[in-house]
Amino acid sequence: MNNWDSFKELVLIEKKDVCDTIKSFYFKSKNGEKLPKHIPGQFLPFRIKTDDATMKEVMRTYSLSDLPSEDVYRISVKKIEGGVMSSYLHDKLQVGDSIEAMPPCGVFVLDESLPKDEPIVLLSGGIGITPLLSILLANAKDRNIYFVQAVQNSNIQPFGEDIDKICKENNLKNTVFYSNPLDTDKIGENYDVQGFVTKEWIKENLPLNGAFYFCGPPIFMESLEKNLLELGVSQDKINYEKFS
Ligand SMILES: Cc1cc2nc3c(=O)[nH]c(=O)nc-3n(C[C@H](O)[C@H](O)[C@H](O)COP(=O)(O)OP(=O)(O)OC[C@H]3O[C@@H](n4cnc5c(N)ncnc54)[C@H](O)[C@@H]3O)c2cc1C
Repeated sequence: MNNWDSFKELVLIEKKDVCDTIKSFYFKSKNGEKLPKHIPGQFLPFRIKTDDATMKEVMRTYSLSDLPSEDVYRISVKKIEGGVMSSYLHDKLQVGDSIEAMPPCGVFVLDESLPKDEPIVLLSGGIGITPLLSILLANAKDRNIYFVQAVQNSNIQPFGEDIDKICKENNLKNTVFYSNPLDTDKIGENYDVQGFVTKEWIKENLPLNGAFYFCGPPIFMESLEKNLLELGVSQDKINYEKFS
């Protein structure tokens, strides 16, 4: 879309369940114009007017969770109980409806100057998967990526099958952590490790000479950063996106 420097309308063309509490939303431009391609890792700011008496505007940002495209943007949103925007998207916005958004922005993107053979480690916690999935999809073919997905269990594991498939196809290492597996979850089938991503596990399983990118709940990111620094990874190789 030309001169897209403030809010413009996007139209919802599809709404899809991903797993418990998470849905994906697919948008096109309203007037049929091409969209600017995002850089994997970037997000879109959205704006709505709440229906309370004040008609207050609410703005939230959502990472693009798919490959860059000029035709369709995909975001994937976890519904937060009592959350204004996530509830609006899940419960009110219907296919054919419009929503205001700004163009893709954000600096949580892969450093393109990294040597092609330098390992890239992508670690996601919960809904923090969204920017990392876009980075994985765009770089799986020509980067040596180690992917780590940490979730509670299979009920709330977004995109597990897609990640497994793309990692297998490209010979990439993919590790799934469940902190609270269901009785039906089987180690070696649905997931690889029970518990949290520990310092010891990182030391034994990840390339400490790589570049690290992570996104997830605050406690997940704080612990990862602390552990990586203690293991000697330099601060300039540690990159993360906060969702708050
Ligand atoms: C760069 C970036 C990228 C992001 N990408 C994604 C993404 O890809 N997917 C995704 O799902 N999220 C993403 N987020 C998070 C997203 O922007 C929202 O913060 C999230 O969806 C919650 O917004 P909400 O309006 O639904 O909740 P809010 O209305 O902001 O509420 C959040 C919490 O606060 C509580 N709360 C609200 N009002 C009050 C009050 N008055 N008193 C006490 N508690 C209150 C709510 O109950 C809820 O628990 C991203 C955030 C950032 C910064």
